[in-house]
Amino acid sequence: MRILSVASECVPFVKTGGLADVVGALPSAMADLGVEMRTLIPGYTQVLEKLGALRKVAELGELFGGKATLQSLKLEGETLYVLRAPHLFERSDGIYLDGKGQDWADNPERFAALCRAAEAICEDGLVNWQPDVLHGHDWQAGLASYYTGRRGTARKTRSVLTIHNIAFHGIADPAKRLALGVAPADFTRDGVEFWGKISALKAGLIFSDRLTTVSPTYAQELLTPEFGMGMDGVMRMRRDDLRGILNGIDLDVWNPAEDRDIRRYKTARGKAANKRILQKEFGLAERDGPLCVVVSRLSQQKGLDLLLEALPTLISGGGQLALLGTGDAALERAFIDAGLDENVGVRIGYDEKLAHRMIAGGDAILVPSRFEPCGLTQLYGLRYGTIPLVALTGGLADTVINASPAALAMGAASGIQFNPVSVEPLRNAIAQLCGLYKRPAVWNMMQKNAMAQPVGWDQSAAEYLAVYRELVASSA
Ligand code: ADP
Repeated sequence: MRILSVASECVPFVKTGGLADVVGALPSAMADLGVEMRTLIPGYTQVLEKLGALRKVAELGELFGGKATLQSLKLEGETLYVLRAPHLFERSDGIYLDGKGQDWADNPERFAALCRAAEAICEDGLVNWQPDVLHGHDWQAGLASYYTGRRGTARKTRSVLTIHNIAFHGIADPAKRLALGVAPADFTRDGVEFWGKISALKAGLIFSDRLTTVSPTYAQELLTPEFGMGMDGVMRMRRDDLRGILNGIDLDVWNPAEDRDIRRYKTARGKAANKRILQKEFGLAERDGPLCVVVSRLSQQKGLDLLLEALPTLISGGGQLALLGTGDAALERAFIDAGLDENVGVRIGYDEKLAHRMIAGGDAILVPSRFEPCGLTQLYGLRYGTIPLVALTGGLADTVINASPAALAMGAASGIQFNPVSVEPLRNAIAQLCGLYKRPAVWNMMQKNAMAQPVGWDQSAAEYLAVYRELVASSA
C-alpha cells in the first residue's frame, strides 16, 4: 500500500511541536507493516539547509506568484518530497510567523500550494508513484482533501486527515476564495466557510473520507463545545468517521539505555546521577526531594500559569522545579521571576539535548494542560521512569495510570492525574506527589510501571493501517 503523508513539519528537518515528531516517525512505523509512506513538506530555508542536494522530480508551473518544483531525497530507504517555491517558503524568521511574531500574511496561499502539490501527486500522476491514500496533518493539509475530494468518485486516492490540534483553523479572508480554488458552491456553512471566512481546517474536516485524532479521549472531547473550538458541530457530523489513535514516541531517540545526551541507565536507580547533574545545571541545591521538570511551549493551552500559582505547594513539600520553555512573553517573564526562588530553575529557549537531560534527571514531569490532544513529554517521562503528573484530559488521560487507591493497591499506578484543570486540584496533586515520593517502595513501583508501559508505535501503526485498509476497500 502507498500513502502520501502531507504536513507542514517533519522531524528531523523542521519542528515546532509534537506534530513534527509524529510525521517524522510514521513512515518507518508503517514500513514495518509493509506500507510505503512518502512524506511531502514545504522547502523552507531551514529544511533546505539541512537536506543539501535534492533531485528535481517535476515542475508544478506557477503557484501563487512564482515557479514551483517538486524535489526529492531518499533517506534511510524513505522518500521525502520537498515543494520548492522560493517565493513562498525561502524566508528568514519562522515557518509560520514573521519577525514580529505575526502569521505570515500569505499563509493561506503557502499551504494551499502544498496542497496543490499533494493533489498533483495523488490525482494527476505528477510523479511516477501513485498513492492509494492521502494522509494529511492539521489545517495546513486541509485543502488537499478538498482539492482531491471534490473530484468525486472518479478520484484515484481516498483521504484521511489527522487532527493534531483543533485550535488552529487555517483562516483566510473570503477575498482569497478564487485564488485558493474554493468553488462558490462550497463556500457555505456545510462547506469550507467558517463565520464568513475560509477555513482550511474545516475544508479538511468536511472533505476528508476519514478523520483521526491523536488520542481516544481527545476524539470524544472534540465533539463538545468546550474542546471543539467552534468545530464541534462539524465533528459531531463526522463522528462516525472519526478515530482516536494515540501517538507513539521514537523508541530509538528516547531510550534511557542508549541516550547519548545523558548518563545512560536501564533501571530507575540510574536516574540519581542524572538528577545531580541537572540540579547543578539549573543552580539548584543537590539535595533530596522530588525534582519536577517541565519541557513545554509556554502557552495558555499548557496550563503553566496554574503551576506558577501552585509552586508554593511544591516548594513547601520539599520539591524543586526545573523548567525549559519558550513562547508567550508574559509567561516567560513570570517564570523568570519565579526562578528567583532558590528551588526553581528556569531556561527560556528551545533545546533538544537539554530536554533529554531533564527527562532523565527529573523525578517527575509536570503537564497541567487545559487541553492536550496527545502530549509527548509524558510519554518520554514514562519511558525514563520520570513520573508524569498530568491533567486528566486528552492523551494525558489515556496514557497515564493514576495513583488512585485502587491502582496503588494493585501495584498498577504509573503517574498522577488531576481534574478539573484548576489551581486547587493541581495543588492537591502536587501534595500527593510529594507524599508518594517519601514512600520509596511505592515510588519505585510507579517508576517500574512507568518504564514498562508500551509507548512506541506498534499498536498505533496497526490502527492507522486499519484506517488505510478501510479507505482502499471503500474505493474498490
Ligand atoms: P505540542 O505539540 O502541543 O507543543 P507535545 O507534547 O505534543 O506538545 O510535543 C511537544 C514536543 O516539543 C516534545 O517533543 C517536546 O519535547 C518538545 N519541546 C517543547 N518545548 C521544548 C523546548 N523548549 N525545548 C526542547 N523541546 C521542546
